[in-house]
Amino acid sequence: MQYREIGKTGKQAGIIGLGCEQLDRRPYAQVEETVHAALDCGVNLFEVFMPGLEVRTNIAKALGTRRRDVMVQGHIGSTDIREQYDISRDLPTAKRYFEEMLRLFGGYVDFGMMFFIDSEKDYKEVFETGFADYVLRLKEQGDIGHIGFSSHNPETAMRVIKTGLPELMMFSINLAFDLYPAKDNVLDELHKGLDAAAFRGIDPKRAELYKLCEQSGVGITVMKPFGAGKLLSPEHTPFENPLTVPQCLHYALTRPAVASVLPGCETAAEMVDVMRYFDASDEERDYTPVLGTLRNDFAGQCVYCSHCLPCPADIDIATVNKYLDIARLDVDNVSPSVRSHYASLESAGSDCIGCGSCEERCPFGVRVIENMAEAASIFEKR
Ligand code: SF4
Ligand code: SF4
Repeated sequence: MQYREIGKTGKQAGIIGLGCEQLDRRPYAQVEETVHAALDCGVNLFEVFMPGLEVRTNIAKALGTRRRDVMVQGHIGSTDIREQYDISRDLPTAKRYFEEMLRLFGGYVDFGMMFFIDSEKDYKEVFETGFADYVLRLKEQGDIGHIGFSSHNPETAMRVIKTGLPELMMFSINLAFDLYPAKDNVLDELHKGLDAAAFRGIDPKRAELYKLCEQSGVGITVMKPFGAGKLLSPEHTPFENPLTVPQCLHYALTRPAVASVLPGCETAAEMVDVMRYFDASDEERDYTPVLGTLRNDFAGQCVYCSHCLPCPADIDIATVNKYLDIARLDVDNVSPSVRSHYASLESAGSDCIGCGSCEERCPFGVRVIENMAEAASIFEKR
């Protein structure tokens, strides 16, 4: 397992965690086997949005004393009053469900997530009532370690980030979702069937959201990395060929601010299968061939794929481009953490000798030499 810092929280998450949704309504033995497989693989972040008492109890029991070695994302406002997944912003109801979760998980939840903030209505119900105040109180009381939220909508998510309250965002990230215009509801699209006819290149709002998170020190955890399995399916993929598990994980892990991807695994075998990411070669992780038919949509835009390497100056071009993209959000106010990440690179933009070999190799026509010079002028000027 590799570990990454979650935003500015000081906490380190395994880059692969476990989304526990698939363990809902499964026998305890299966929950235990899957959770133990995850623990044995070094997973230390468990996503538990499900409101059901039985699945929460099963997960807590399976963690046992190892609960203290791992982190849990628990959601505030996730309920099952009508015996199905539901959202409630009614404070007494939300409190009842969350206090139950606290009791089951040792009186403490590492990340208290404000559940499902997608629409204007969701935003108002969280920030224009006492809901967000309750979440803040949970943190002040030490019931939760950090405040997070979940969303599928980039515009609403940016509003939430700009309140300054969250330290973590769980967002639905995969290559297909990123190609949908921000106004489209990706959950509806997923339900209808993903359709490449709607793709318009990497959506600028989604890209901006990830950069805003990095700039603001908000870590991202990723849900739906496989688009509910549709990206992996020959029948349902919107691309010419299905993506593989390593390609989907690598795409999500190469977005700015992403700390951990949380695939839903239903069995120990699925958990072990997901961990094959660490054995996959660069070629096996490479998601760009899938974009072949959409290439024009990406003209000039870096997708952080590293096809341009090797660089004779040993520049990690994708990473420099990533920090440059974040800095371009507001060049006069680049966050100290982004500057410090850039400063820690072994080779910087100014090391570019302008050989041009990267531009010949880049499938997307990125003007790398110009980018390296721009990065040097933003990050290296005294
Ligand atoms: S410059 Fe081109 S090849 Fe290099 S990481 Fe960006 S998109 Fe990929
Ligand atoms: S042009 Fe610059 S960044 Fe590109 S390969 Fe040559 S030295 Fe590296």
